[in-house]
Amino acid sequence: MYLATCEFGKESVVGSRIADDLFHLGAAYRYWFGEDAPVWMKDMRSLLEGGQTAIDRVRKLDDKIKTTLSASGGREALVKRGIVHRLGNVRLAAPILNPGKIICVGLNYKDHCLEQEKPMPTSPILFSKFSSAITGPEEPIIRPQATTRLDFEGELAFVVGKRGKHISVNEAMEYVVGYTVFNDVSARDLQFSDGQWLRGKTFDTFAPTGPFLVTKETVENPHDLRIEVRVNGRTMQSSSTQNMIFDIPYLVHFISGVVTLSPGDLVATGTPAGVGVFRKPPVFLKGGDEVTVEIEKLGTLRNTVVDEDTG
Ligand code: MG
Repeated sequence: MYLATCEFGKESVVGSRIADDLFHLGAAYRYWFGEDAPVWMKDMRSLLEGGQTAIDRVRKLDDKIKTTLSASGGREALVKRGIVHRLGNVRLAAPILNPGKIICVGLNYKDHCLEQEKPMPTSPILFSKFSSAITGPEEPIIRPQATTRLDFEGELAFVVGKRGKHISVNEAMEYVVGYTVFNDVSARDLQFSDGQWLRGKTFDTFAPTGPFLVTKETVENPHDLRIEVRVNGRTMQSSSTQNMIFDIPYLVHFISGVVTLSPGDLVATGTPAGVGVFRKPPVFLKGGDEVTVEIEKLGTLRNTVVDEDTG
């Protein structure tokens, strides 16, 4: 399933994408079950907190929609009831607007270590962003006045679907509900001058995410996906998630040895080679630049850089 946080009119709800259509899951619930959708269905984090039961109920709705679509006149019936909308007519927000934690992994691609002549780490390097950094697809990345070296990092992020601590590698995937596209936007001057990464990584809008939360059964192998970043149409990063050093099960195991993972937590798994700061000559983002992160099967996350106006 491709789940999204959708703005249908003034309402922000969880929707599901099938081909070029978006489905209002609350309206679908009302249609098939004759009552208002449960409150948890309005918001992705609440849905994830409902665990497997909630995901299964959403999947049942998704299946009913697919069956209806395949019947003659099915789509028209769904249009009449306000269940289906064209993808291009609906504004999408970040799939998870309020993750409890955003955990990022540094130096987790072989090619990214090579480009900066750093040895591959022997255990994952973790840092974090605050949830105030989250921004959605097509929303601006605000370049703070404090930086002149704004950079992009296209990343696959996985989404936690189940609470757990000290999770074994073997059981790790039970705790992952799906994946999304992430841009670990970084102010390189501040990241490097501070001696630690928090400030340079967590300005507002430094965590573009989306457009979809793609549930894990939709992606056969998250460690074999093309990942590409373009700036104004020019390819800057082009790699595969095969180049990840620590894979998702190991990251779940390692991180859950430190903190309790909870539904809705996001873990950005690191970026491949090609970031702006290590290019020769370096490339930094400026107002008006369009940054696109595309990951096979997960979708395309597009944002435009806007210079901060402090008034
Ligand atoms: Mg990164």
